[in-house]
Amino acid sequence: MIYWDHNSTTPCAPEVVEAMQCYWNEEYGNPSSSHIMGRRAAVAVKKAREQVAGLANALSSEIVFTSGATESNNLLFLGILLSPRTERNRIVISAIEHKSVLEPARLLEEHGFEVVKLPVSPTGVTDFEAAKDWVTNKTLLVSVQAANNELGTLQPVAELAELAHENGAYFHTDAAQVLGKVPFDVQSVNCDFASFSAHKMYGPKGIGALFVRGGARRWPWARPFRGGGQEGDLRPGTSNVPAIVGFGEACSLGQKYFQTDQPARIVELEKELLTRITATFPKSVVHSLDVPRLPGVFSMAFSNIPSDLLIDNLQILAVGRGSACSNMALTTSHVLERIGLDADIAKSTLRISLGRGSSRKDIISAIDLFDEAIKLIMEVMA
Ligand code: PMP
Repeated sequence: MIYWDHNSTTPCAPEVVEAMQCYWNEEYGNPSSSHIMGRRAAVAVKKAREQVAGLANALSSEIVFTSGATESNNLLFLGILLSPRTERNRIVISAIEHKSVLEPARLLEEHGFEVVKLPVSPTGVTDFEAAKDWVTNKTLLVSVQAANNELGTLQPVAELAELAHENGAYFHTDAAQVLGKVPFDVQSVNCDFASFSAHKMYGPKGIGALFVRGGARRWPWARPFRGGGQEGDLRPGTSNVPAIVGFGEACSLGQKYFQTDQPARIVELEKELLTRITATFPKSVVHSLDVPRLPGVFSMAFSNIPSDLLIDNLQILAVGRGSACSNMALTTSHVLERIGLDADIAKSTLRISLGRGSSRKDIISAIDLFDEAIKLIMEVMA
């Protein structure tokens, strides 16, 4: 298989699997237990919390483990929903947020909050000028993703955080797609909250975190989940020790990865792939070409070739269609709609996300695979 769908999920790195191994059936203590096995598990969770904090340049006390970015986003929005209302009633998000922000924002709207969706440029970047009109002393929270999952486009989060703070609002970023892919630092972004997901960065599925500036004790909202008090009482429930350990290890690997030439290698692979695609398929269109993007991630269309048919025919080449979470629904993605793509182009759009295991050899095979599949589809459609 040639796997080019890393924005959907990534394989667990071998080091991650290895680090998790003993926590299934040897070191299986509950970190809340006071006996020696519990204490050993608590030490493992402490180390993982430091590893996650290390990658994001946070304090370990500021990392709240959750089941992933969806839960982190929901925790924040539910906290707001359950808190006493103030004059600040506006939530500002971008129009191309992931569903796990859009849907909880809709819930707030249903409960009387004003939700503003900032427009984006045709290249998929949040309009900062529009943000200036909407982020005011009526704004409670600005929540804009660090990178878009479908287009790979990096968003102006540091500028938006500054604007939010100048107006007395909080700033949250859904950083699920950036952690471990490009350096992400909660201090330089100066966010108050950030959501992370391990399975997007070579860690296990079902684990992530919410960065809370100042730690759980400084959480300014109501606590939506009630239970045994774990994770500073923000996310009670027995800790998923193997997954937490795996996430920690993935973060340590992420830090080492940035010190190698690997990120630059992926950028070079992307360049070569784009050159070959445009040379072999002159009618193809690449969206968001000239804006800063996640390395190796782009969205494109082979004109008049519906992407679902193409994906079915690619067999050993796995690429994404729209956002992974809406892959089952054959509706046009809200992101492609918001950047103003014509319906036919949107229907033909697929997402390529290279990863650490991608190689030059794959590029050459993939061009042949695209070519064969496209010819076959054109024959059937003719
Ligand atoms: N936010 C973004 C930007 C994402 O790409 C995803 C995963 N598609 C999520 C949130 C959800 O993350 P998780 O699977 O950890 O819940």
